[in-house]
Amino acid sequence: MFDSDFYSDLHVHTNRSLCAPRTTEPSTYLPYCESEGIRLIGISDHVYPTEMIHAFGYKDETRLSRLLSVRPALREAEDASNVRFLFGCEIDYFPCVGHPYISPEESLQFDYVLFASSHILNYPHMYTTYDLSSPDVLRRLTVERFVATCKLDYPVPMGICHPLYPICSPHQCEIIDGISDDCLKECFSMAKEKNISIEIHACLYRQDTPLNADGLSDRYLRILSVAKDCGCKFHFGSDAHDPKAFVGSHDMLRKAATLLGITGDDLWDVAKGILQR
Ligand SMILES: [Zn+2]
Ligand SMILES: [Zn+2]
Repeated sequence: MFDSDFYSDLHVHTNRSLCAPRTTEPSTYLPYCESEGIRLIGISDHVYPTEMIHAFGYKDETRLSRLLSVRPALREAEDASNVRFLFGCEIDYFPCVGHPYISPEESLQFDYVLFASSHILNYPHMYTTYDLSSPDVLRRLTVERFVATCKLDYPVPMGICHPLYPICSPHQCEIIDGISDDCLKECFSMAKEKNISIEIHACLYRQDTPLNADGLSDRYLRILSVAKDCGCKFHFGSDAHDPKAFVGSHDMLRKAATLLGITGDDLWDVAKGILQR
């Protein structure tokens, strides 16, 4: 029914992400992979400043050690299954910090990196000089952070997760409808130029915006359709923090990709398990 290359999910969290249940390990997803048609999982936990990790009580860990500590669990999960695991991370990049939480040199320890350019309302304390209650301000920031991410240079494959998805905003329709096709074209042409993969993300079926008869958001489909027209590469991302969000997500993401005319040829190499350095 779907393209046979649609077997990966590169945006999956474990308990190294502070917002995931403490019980979520890489192996937690294994019982659900066969029914979901998933043979390749990319673990991409959030990166936090060391002080924040300490504030949560993990005094022995640092920004990087917390992420790297999941690697043995990836190998164990691989050994116990037919599922292959890749090691990525989800990186924040705030204007007030000025540089992403993983440097290009540090990124060499990962198979790929995802940038969360639209984490704005998730961390309002990083944007205190902006009026985040204004849809216009949030729209401008959402686009600006996407563009800023496209200007980064990393030696490992780069992707953007949940592209232009103003997470947590109650004004998502207004924000997205105010981004013109021309603006989207500019954004995605930059991503295409830099070989930055665009994520086919769970926002497509979350009920943050109205859903069509296929259970998908026309607004997020429009965003991805411009990315497709620009020739971008894509990867799938359930953004699951536990099995509940993992189960049932993949056929929805595949349905969206199929509607957009995305095939295996449009997938990022990493989404097909190909790692080139
Ligand atoms: Zn995110
Ligand atoms: Zn995520």
